Amino acid sequence: LHDAPKPHFVLIPFMAQGHTIPMIDMAHLLAKHGAMVSFITTPVNAARVQSTIDRARELNTAIRFVPLRLPCAEVGLPDGCENVDEVLEKDQVMKMTDAYAMLHEPLVLYLREQSIPPSCIVSDLCQPWTGDVARDLGIPRLMFNGFCAFASLCRYLIHQDKVFENVPDGDELVILPGFPHHLEVSKARSPGNFNSPGFEKFSAKILDEEQRADGIVTNTFYELEPLYVDAYEQRIGRRVWTIGPMFLCNTDRITIADRGAKASVNQKHCMEWLDSMQNGSVLYVSFGSMARTVFSQLEEIALGLEASKRPFLWVIKSDNKPSETDKLLLPEGFEERTRGRGLIIQGWAPQALILSHPSVGGFVTHCGWNSTVEGISSGLPMITWPHCAEQFLNEELIVNVLKVGLAVGVKSITNRTMKVHEISVVKRNQIERAVIELMGEETGAEERRTRAKELKEKARKAMHEGSSYSNVKQLIEYISSRGTRTDVQ
Ligand code: UDP
Repeated sequence: LHDAPKPHFVLIPFMAQGHTIPMIDMAHLLAKHGAMVSFITTPVNAARVQSTIDRARELNTAIRFVPLRLPCAEVGLPDGCENVDEVLEKDQVMKMTDAYAMLHEPLVLYLREQSIPPSCIVSDLCQPWTGDVARDLGIPRLMFNGFCAFASLCRYLIHQDKVFENVPDGDELVILPGFPHHLEVSKARSPGNFNSPGFEKFSAKILDEEQRADGIVTNTFYELEPLYVDAYEQRIGRRVWTIGPMFLCNTDRITIADRGAKASVNQKHCMEWLDSMQNGSVLYVSFGSMARTVFSQLEEIALGLEASKRPFLWVIKSDNKPSETDKLLLPEGFEERTRGRGLIIQGWAPQALILSHPSVGGFVTHCGWNSTVEGISSGLPMITWPHCAEQFLNEELIVNVLKVGLAVGVKSITNRTMKVHEISVVKRNQIERAVIELMGEETGAEERRTRAKELKEKARKAMHEGSSYSNVKQLIEYISSRGTRTDVQ
């Protein structure tokens, strides 16, 4: 008997940081469990997560990063327009997806040349063209769905059953048929809500490839939402591999600190500041990698945090800067008045590291799934502040199902461009009230904290010895048992 060759996973993320980061975690996870990984990216996207890539290379020789140049000019996009952050208009996003689809041929050629042939493709839901690549190579394609199972099921039912077909108003509530319990959804608060030309076709292709996939891989854990994992699996008729929270596989400090991009803050200073704060006293405020906060909202957040009198660590990404001074616009005197109890990071924060610090006791989040799962794994109660995509569904899960959060009270979306998620402004008194309620000593706050801590334990157990751990192992075994085709030319 000789050793079986390592199964070779080809990972293809969608080109946004929130989609790339969990797949780099996935690369680490698969490599730790004995697989070989090729990670397909583009030069611009590789540069954005360069420190993460360098770290992965250092730690794991089984991970290889493969940058393929995107044919931007051929679809009428400026050169280097490879990440959704750079595209301003919705139809440019569609053009970008066309450019990605044109990687079919170079990717097939590249993969056919490899001395260790690929065993399977795991690609983002938004990269449906990879289904044809897998079929050309005669290997399975697993779809990575970066949503939780709750939102995945909603999305699937909404599209499959055309729930909004005859609903004229984006805010109108509709009962979601086929969901395991009563749930009302609206178009404006659901994912895939773009009216751009070509989106319908793209969306139909995603659905088709979701149904044809050999399985679905998700960054959640079974014990968090068993009802929805089971229902999604049953409805789609495919195995749903819950292998999260994947970021928990990063156990060393450097990998956790530089996850995604290089931090815009001196990490030592940031950690020392947190060290100087009381256990569980600091509120961490961040809206993910893409959302840009407009000045009117920055002002309300600042004054709301100030009025709450609680310590805060606030990550600001805003386009509202006077260009000549490069200084962020904040209310007059705010920084002086909150000196000592407030720390602002302008740009990229080492989020996973911050969330795991014992001084952090609450998280104001836009409910992106990665941030949500990081908050859950850190045992934090949350103030939910969804902006777009499936974030409103995640809010529903956090607040009403898991009962570890409270809603700040976002009403509706007024501007749904990809670049600036400008939502109706949340007022300072709403923010103050939510912070006091979340961080206070009332029974409700205590219960929320207790539940959040229980979920943290469940998350860690799932990842290190429980369901997610055995699912990764089974996934690798499943792919190995499918065999690597070398006969397809
Ligand atoms: N992130 C970070 N620092 C930041 C902003 C974001 O480390 O300043 C990470 C965060 O930990 C998460 C990801 O970027 O892993 C954001 O993904 P999420 O799904 O929360 O939101 P998105 O950015 O896709 O809206």
